[in-house]
Amino acid sequence: TRVLLTGGSGFLAAHVLETLLKKGHSVVTTVRSQGKADKIKEAFPGYDGRLDFTIVEDIAQPNAFDNAVISDPPFEAIIHTASPFHFNVTDIQKVESSPPEIKKQLTNSKDLLDPAMNGTLSILRATQKSAPTVKTVVLTSSFAAVSNFAKGAWPEHTYTEDEWNPMTVEDALSNPARGYTGSKALAEKAAWDFMQKEKPSFTLTTILPTLVFGPIFPGLHSLESMNTSNALMYGITKGMAKQKIPDLGGYCFVDVREVALGHVRAMELPTAANQRFLFSAGQYNNRLIVNIIRENFPEYHAVLPDSTVEGGDFPAGGTFQIGNAKSKEILGIQYRSLEDTVVDTVKSFQKAA
Ligand code: NDP
Repeated sequence: TRVLLTGGSGFLAAHVLETLLKKGHSVVTTVRSQGKADKIKEAFPGYDGRLDFTIVEDIAQPNAFDNAVISDPPFEAIIHTASPFHFNVTDIQKVESSPPEIKKQLTNSKDLLDPAMNGTLSILRATQKSAPTVKTVVLTSSFAAVSNFAKGAWPEHTYTEDEWNPMTVEDALSNPARGYTGSKALAEKAAWDFMQKEKPSFTLTTILPTLVFGPIFPGLHSLESMNTSNALMYGITKGMAKQKIPDLGGYCFVDVREVALGHVRAMELPTAANQRFLFSAGQYNNRLIVNIIRENFPEYHAVLPDSTVEGGDFPAGGTFQIGNAKSKEILGIQYRSLEDTVVDTVKSFQKAA
């Protein structure tokens, strides 16, 4: 299949790219600069005839994807992963003196909401307008688009694909953490609204991962600019949990390799059309991560907390579960254990050092 993959330099997208190439698909990936294209080429040698690049500098711009969706031979599928995943909202400093309402709008809106929502809508619109051969679009959403954060740990609850994060634009503009989760929920909602209103000739499938851990590609990803979801695990190997283990960043995790395979299977399997898929391998906490690193990597013993150090446990009452049956039954995903994920992730940090 001829595929357009957005944001190929990202942590997840690099795994999607590898999976696509290994399965024999032909891929054009968007990147922000030629420098990033060169790095990807180096990281995936030997695919010259099946790997190409298009520069899309900023997905927040209206019509960002108008040219990218056009190709010869034409695309049959699109996988849209690019979206900002960080909590560093740079504009905050610039607008410190503005009235509160203006301040909120100038920050999360420009740095998080605009790229997520405009990026999603502009790729759907461009596909409808200029890429009539595309049969399927797969969009990376997030568990954030399902989660009801107001419910907290909600131990008696198991989330499913039928639920929606009830956040409004107003909520999303209230702080950077909410800006990210809101950006994902609102972008996915906008995509399904587009499908309902426009009834385009392609199908949509959305992938909703929980916190994604997993190996980085040495050469492509650097330790200094570690992706957000691996950052805490990397911090643990650098001694940041020695005095206190940080409490949770999420409650459930999934390995990046399962999420990448899920995107590709969703693209390949007609049974996945017009559906949402939660991706979760199960629950984790930072104490379990510390223990796995201790058991498998003696070289980190000096920087790890000893067993008397507090923090990193599950909340006393337990936490919610996330249903992953659909991803197993329809996409055939088999989830690996937290131990396998942590060991492979830490090994990748060592290779990148
Ligand atoms: P990364 O930060 O590694 O990747 C994000 C990608 O999006 C990068 O390629 C980045 O390009 C690109 N991007 C961001 N903003 C823009 C912009 N304005 N214009 C052009 N490109 C842009 O994060 P992940 O790989 O973790 O995230 C990939 C996807 O997975 C996102 O949609 C994220 O929301 C989703 N997700 C991730 C989870 C996780 O735990 N990692 C959990 C659930 C969902 P560049 O690097 O050049 O800035």
